[in-house]
Amino acid sequence: MADDVYIDGQWRGGRGARFAKTCPATGEVTWQGAAADGAEVAEAVASARKAFRDWSRRPQAERTAILERYADEIGQRAEAIAEVISRDMGKALWDSRGEAATMKAKIGVSIAAQKERAGEKTEAAAFGSSQLTHRPHGVMAVFGPFNFPGHLPNGHIVPALLAGNTCVFKPSELAPGVAALMAECFAAAGLPPGCLNIVQGGRETGAALIDQEIDGLLFTGSAATGVFFHRHFAGRPEVILALEMGGNNPLIIWEPAEVEAASDIAAQSAFLTTGQRCSCARRIILPEGRFGDRVIEAMVDRARKIKVGAWNEPEIFMGPLVSEKARDQAIAFQDMLVSHGAAPVLALTGMDRGGGFVSPGIVDVTGASGFPDEELFGPLMQVVRVKTFDAAIERANSTKYGLSGGLVCDDDALWDCAYREMRAGVLNRNRLTAGASGSMPFGGPGLSGNFRPGAYYAADYCAWPQASQLAPKAARMTAPGFPA
Ligand code: NAD
Repeated sequence: MADDVYIDGQWRGGRGARFAKTCPATGEVTWQGAAADGAEVAEAVASARKAFRDWSRRPQAERTAILERYADEIGQRAEAIAEVISRDMGKALWDSRGEAATMKAKIGVSIAAQKERAGEKTEAAAFGSSQLTHRPHGVMAVFGPFNFPGHLPNGHIVPALLAGNTCVFKPSELAPGVAALMAECFAAAGLPPGCLNIVQGGRETGAALIDQEIDGLLFTGSAATGVFFHRHFAGRPEVILALEMGGNNPLIIWEPAEVEAASDIAAQSAFLTTGQRCSCARRIILPEGRFGDRVIEAMVDRARKIKVGAWNEPEIFMGPLVSEKARDQAIAFQDMLVSHGAAPVLALTGMDRGGGFVSPGIVDVTGASGFPDEELFGPLMQVVRVKTFDAAIERANSTKYGLSGGLVCDDDALWDCAYREMRAGVLNRNRLTAGASGSMPFGGPGLSGNFRPGAYYAADYCAWPQASQLAPKAARMTAPGFPA
């Protein structure tokens, strides 16, 4: 059965251009089909619009119960979900298993968040009462990135549906497979047809979706795409935009006693998911002198020994990059840094086995200048050496992004300073920059988003507040100078 376009609860073949996804490790075709064309995208939005009427009027308890059943369905298919994700985009199976588990956990967290942040409240007042409730926006377009192709769209779709919205989801063309399993879980949970429609495809399908009469765009992806969408919806404040974008994330390491532990934190922050996490550390900031040298030596040792392999090989830490194109871009980015004066410490190189495989790299950019403040979505760590802690903070903040950051140190006073000064939405001490709690908001200032953080705060952008003053009966109004 084709799983190109899912409208009104039915899958069918798309009428747009055909495309395929191959596993970046093995080269096997993991998904093939046809993109949704403009007319099908319009049909998907119309289906969501029609379903909105009934879905938004259902009691909250009914919507919540369906999403709780969805959590069970995800749990039952967790292994299949993990495998589809790993095959499509190449990450290690343990990593995709973590993603599938997070998708399930998301439901409970979203229910709690909605109660707390977008629930109802009544207060007694002299005239009767004041009441707060929240209303859904309508039809939400959901765009996901390839690196967490299940969890991140799910992180928009679940709170959006809970709040009474309906959705049209365009999965990443680099990881299209998981969407069919999500649809299966929603259908098995009893989500009415039309509440979630899916349109497979790349930019053309995405462009057709943002041209529809939608009420919101819930996006996770690169800053370039987010800025493009922001421009597209300029002058349309009635369309809610939640933009979760990338980062150029700093991790300062300032003389903790445990060099080995600091190096673990740095290397895992930089190389987790082959550097394809938005919260990966891109820039490791170290003091000049012997301590910094020792950390670099220990990080190089780890980078050399990290096990790279296909998703289903045992005990691998890193899979390949998502595609050969991504591999070439990572190598080109490293070359660009070197052309600006950076010194390679351990070169990121394409591996003999082809596909998206690269070895992790470390490059010292201390002596480099004039290179762009850009996110390289791959396992390339940039090292910067500075003289003072103040200079480290200044360097950490010298980016237009602000997603994640961290400090590795034993000294509470240094942490207090970093906590005050570092501009990052996720700011950790002695933990990976890529570690974030599901029960906290996720997002950051600058080019990392538009101040509509996701995760626990996704409830905020999925509904608008309605505040009412309620008097049981009409009573005469008095005011100075107003006729009695
Ligand atoms: P991307 O921006 O290339 O693509 C994301 C989605 O947007 C895809 O569905 C893609 O088809 C669509 N798209 C891209 N350009 C489009 C256009 N011009 N018109 C219509 N649709 C378009 O992102 P990606 O490469 O899939 O994901 C990696 C990026 O996502 C990184 O920058 C990473 O930092 C970011 N990311 C952010 C978060 C977060 O929570 N802040 C989480 C994960 C990934």
